[in-house]
Amino acid sequence: MKLHEYQSKDLLARYGVNVPGGRVAHDAADAQAIADEFGGKVVVKAQVLMGGRGKAGGVKLFDNAAAAGAFTQELIGKRLVSIQNPAGMVVEKVLVGELIDIDEEYYLSVLLDRAAAQLVVMISKEGGMDIEEVAEKHPEAIVRLHVDPAWGLSDFEIRAALAQANIPKAARGQMVAMIKSLVSAYLREDADLIEINPCAWTPDGKLIAADAKVSIDENALFRHKEYGDTAEDSAEDPLEAEATRRGIAYVRLGGDIGVIGNGAGLVMCSMDEVTAAGGRPANFLDVGGGAQAERVKSCVELILMDPNVKGLLINIFGGITRCDEVAKGILSALDELNVQIPVVARIEGTASEEGRALLQGTRIVPAQTMQEAAQKIVSLAYA
Ligand code: GDP
Ligand code: MN
Repeated sequence: MKLHEYQSKDLLARYGVNVPGGRVAHDAADAQAIADEFGGKVVVKAQVLMGGRGKAGGVKLFDNAAAAGAFTQELIGKRLVSIQNPAGMVVEKVLVGELIDIDEEYYLSVLLDRAAAQLVVMISKEGGMDIEEVAEKHPEAIVRLHVDPAWGLSDFEIRAALAQANIPKAARGQMVAMIKSLVSAYLREDADLIEINPCAWTPDGKLIAADAKVSIDENALFRHKEYGDTAEDSAEDPLEAEATRRGIAYVRLGGDIGVIGNGAGLVMCSMDEVTAAGGRPANFLDVGGGAQAERVKSCVELILMDPNVKGLLINIFGGITRCDEVAKGILSALDELNVQIPVVARIEGTASEEGRALLQGTRIVPAQTMQEAAQKIVSLAYA
């Protein structure tokens, strides 16, 4: 789950990372008051959870507070669109930060290298808004430093990597310290990404995180209740945000056959079968174990919020989940939600006889196997 820049900076400051002063504003008056505290020399930055804000017009430098206020007025309520996020996001708040002088812009990040089963620190002298282009055209300009999980990082290893990345000597001492802070923050805060771009080098010789992006591992969110509200606006898709509110494991995929199953493996398998049958899955949705009628209903409702969905495939293997409970859930959901699209259900396992009996004579099309279910829903939906 992505944190906003201001939250990321607060978090990193607790680990000793040098960040510019600044506060969040929700309107022009707020922004102007904060800008006044910095003598009007501020940068106003849209707080939206998407990349490429600068290029999208969401970041602007000022030398007087009134202009910073006016720009804030302009930004709030506006939808910013970037290459990274073509659908765009609406600005609800801005960060008004102390303007710093920048001589050079470096790039630093910490993430997990799954193949190496280690954290990796990425370092580049060529930071700033074109880092994607650098990665593509000059991959050698990005130095990778792996973190041994048993030993951590030693200063000499970091220094060697900084030398390889051509970071000026004068900046290396501070960058060693910053990298160590980033790695401890990553581990202790259950992050899955930390990125500082730009990591600014100032004319008076200070290394400052001018931008910061921290993402927290969603599986560890139960340990970080403080981010409850961010979880919702962090989802880039409104349906995924709704799923988070409902506590449903849902991923939108862009196709038109809705898929519900229990257990991640069974759901993925069902999606594969839909694809094999010539269909395009609209989503991943795991209804979870021991699903009760109410929950099944909530899941069906969520899937139908996607206007592209033309058919629904339900694939349940009842272990903990009783098939008759699922059948009741499906029936009441279809009833109350006035579902018009074709629905095929394959239910097997605990209480499957009772479950199938409940569905008998309804508009739900039964199937014996997953393959048969996938073929049936594809032919009905695309008929
Ligand atoms: P992003 O486009 O969403 O990554 O937004 P950033 O926070 O990285 O800002 C984009 C660019 O604005 C940076 O690469 C800097 O060149 C510039 N910028 C941001 N903050 C400051 C600042 O305090 N001082 C100066 N001089 N430039 C800044
Ligand atoms: Mn940036």
